[in-house]
Amino acid sequence: MSHRHFERHKTEHIGWLRAAVLGANDGIVSTASLILGVAAANGSKEAIVVAGVAGLVAGAMSMAAGEYVSVHSQADTEKADIAKETWELANDPEGELKELTAIYVHRGLAPDLARQVAVQLTAHDALGAHARDELGISSVLSARPVQAALSSAASFAVGAALPLFIAWTIPLAQLPAWVAGSTMVFLASLGAVAARTGGANMWLGAWRVLFWGALAMAATWAVGSAFGVSTA
Ligand SMILES: [Zn+2]
Repeated sequence: MSHRHFERHKTEHIGWLRAAVLGANDGIVSTASLILGVAAANGSKEAIVVAGVAGLVAGAMSMAAGEYVSVHSQADTEKADIAKETWELANDPEGELKELTAIYVHRGLAPDLARQVAVQLTAHDALGAHARDELGISSVLSARPVQAALSSAASFAVGAALPLFIAWTIPLAQLPAWVAGSTMVFLASLGAVAARTGGANMWLGAWRVLFWGALAMAATWAVGSAFGVSTA
């Protein structure tokens, strides 16, 4: 019995991982910064929580809309490329066979073998071979706008819920320190997990999101403080 070796590569996770990490990171940073900005402007506990909830909903909707539109336009481009390829295969099969052979020669196959492979793959699934080897469209990486939009909105909402929960449960006096501190922990963990899942350096991954997160919170705290002074 042949022993088939199954190997899971990172590529399979790229689509939803990228959207999920970006969404959660945005959710944590933008909501924590919003909460700290309102707190710095001497906002009441209610005002802070309402701002956090509004930020969560608005952010999740805009992430979903943005991801849907951008991935959908990618899907449109893929569809147009496939339609053009289908036409070329129907109207110039010999030219397409030469093109596919050239791709395999370019990848290192001897011309005779390349031609043989191209002939066999064309006989098996011409459009599939051209889509994969000429256009770089494979079922693993094909655009899924609804999946991308939903995972972005969900991960943004989960990310945003973390500092919001802290703001909701901690008394007003300790709120800024707790929100800022816990947000740094959430961001470092997210950055490390994302880097590790993607096969990259965990510390570098953590440091990157920590730096930008801290910068965003400091900026909104400064703006909120300026407003706080002018409204007091
Ligand atoms: Zn082609």
